[in-house]
Amino acid sequence: MLMLDDWLSQRIEKCKTEGLYRKVRTMETAPLPEMMVDGKRVLVFSSNNYLGLANDRRLIHAAEKVLSKFGLGSSGSRLTTGHSIWHQRLEEKIARFKQTEAALLFSSGFLANVGVLSSIPEKGDVILSDQLNHASIIDGCRLSKAETVIYRHIDIADLKKQLKESMVYRRRFIVTDGVFSMDGTIAPLDQIILLAKKYQAFVIVDDAHATGVLGKNGRGTSEYFGVQPDIVIGTLSKAVGTEGGFVAGSQVLIDFLKNHARTFIFQTSLPPSICAASCAAIEIIEGSEEKRQTLLSNVKKVKNSLAEMGFTVKDSHAPIIPVMIGDAKLSVLFANKLEENGIYAPAIRPPTVPKGESRIRLTLTAEHTSTEIHHLLECFQRIGRELHLV
Ligand code: PMP
Repeated sequence: MLMLDDWLSQRIEKCKTEGLYRKVRTMETAPLPEMMVDGKRVLVFSSNNYLGLANDRRLIHAAEKVLSKFGLGSSGSRLTTGHSIWHQRLEEKIARFKQTEAALLFSSGFLANVGVLSSIPEKGDVILSDQLNHASIIDGCRLSKAETVIYRHIDIADLKKQLKESMVYRRRFIVTDGVFSMDGTIAPLDQIILLAKKYQAFVIVDDAHATGVLGKNGRGTSEYFGVQPDIVIGTLSKAVGTEGGFVAGSQVLIDFLKNHARTFIFQTSLPPSICAASCAAIEIIEGSEEKRQTLLSNVKKVKNSLAEMGFTVKDSHAPIIPVMIGDAKLSVLFANKLEENGIYAPAIRPPTVPKGESRIRLTLTAEHTSTEIHHLLECFQRIGRELHLV
């Protein structure tokens, strides 16, 4: 008789032979650019702590004050146990920040995407989803009773074609990441919204990586393009530096989600201390134009230098830089060599990215110094030559 562990071990072995095995590393210090990982001091180029807020004293103080008053967990879902004043304040703050009527918190960005997509589009509707959308959008589409049609990555001509062909459906929803998590590309939201108007579609944007980063005040892709989608989804776990997800939009939308989104209804709400820290973070973000400039100039420096060396990098203004390697095993070898040189930037492999598109995914923060960036670039050049990639 086949035992469960034997069967699972065979599947793990298969991952290992294909170079797709993953293990979780232990971070022993705060998420600064320089950290202790598994007992070794490394420079981290893989964190989403884009503005350095995850370890900002102002956020920590805000959380501590509320922690001692409200305790640790929130102890229940909001519809049964109620919510703290800090949940309410944070939702009001997010709505003002995103310039919408209202906002609703979820326990994570993943659950916000799943909640929206599984509850709003109905049977007889269609969801047009970018080919490279985040896993949580894919899972939300899978749970929806509407049909899903995939359009080519940020390809406006293909989206138009799919929209034309989807006029037979009752309603159309276009869903896209604002900044794509593995490619760092930015969705052309202005063009998407124009098309949506023409073909009577609703636009849903997951602004996980753009919130705090894009736009003069860090409001995200909407501010960057000067447009307003129907539904904005985001996370507090990246530039905001805390934890949790949100949806921003009309008051009716938020009322609907409170009554229909299962990932809201049946989830224990965020700890009040995290909500308080997130309120402090949003206030800081609005006034952090200089930090955003530093971040974007770090991005530009690394992108241009890697391209000059002969690496394939995609052109965008977002802090995610995929350095294309191709083969999964070669990508792991590259990442291991980086780590031997004190740089932590893991290889990204299938199924996260398509086969043959394995890469080193670098993320930059405003906290990386020019010395740290210089070391990164010097290592890339040396390892790239050693592995005959450049
Ligand atoms: N959307 C995108 C584009 C993401 O990159 C992520 C995080 N990897 C999420 C949603 C999920 O956010 P959270 O970590 O808050 O669940």
